[in-house]
Amino acid sequence: MPEKLKTLAEFKLPHMILNCAQCGRKGRYNVARLIERHGPDMPICNFIAMIGRTCPRWVNQTERQACGLGCDALVYMFMTAPATDAYAMKQNEEFDRAKG
Ligand SMILES: [Zn+2]
Repeated sequence: MPEKLKTLAEFKLPHMILNCAQCGRKGRYNVARLIERHGPDMPICNFIAMIGRTCPRWVNQTERQACGLGCDALVYMFMTAPATDAYAMKQNEEFDRAKG
């Protein structure tokens, strides 16, 4: 069974705050406004990708220069979402590295 992507309608907070640790970008988006504009069924990751298109690092990602754009709230809200897998993997990597 394919994983269902989380949509804007499922976002539980009134505002979605996206930030990029790499470029220092930060944006705050009114979720009700986003739903009006893009529809409730738009996957959250599609929206993040749309915002990311304005970031040169996102568009042209290399191993050394990756864009860290994301929404911290998603990590807590959707622990099993596919988007958080990458985050969890990174945490594991850091853990492994700390162990030596
Ligand atoms: Zn970025």
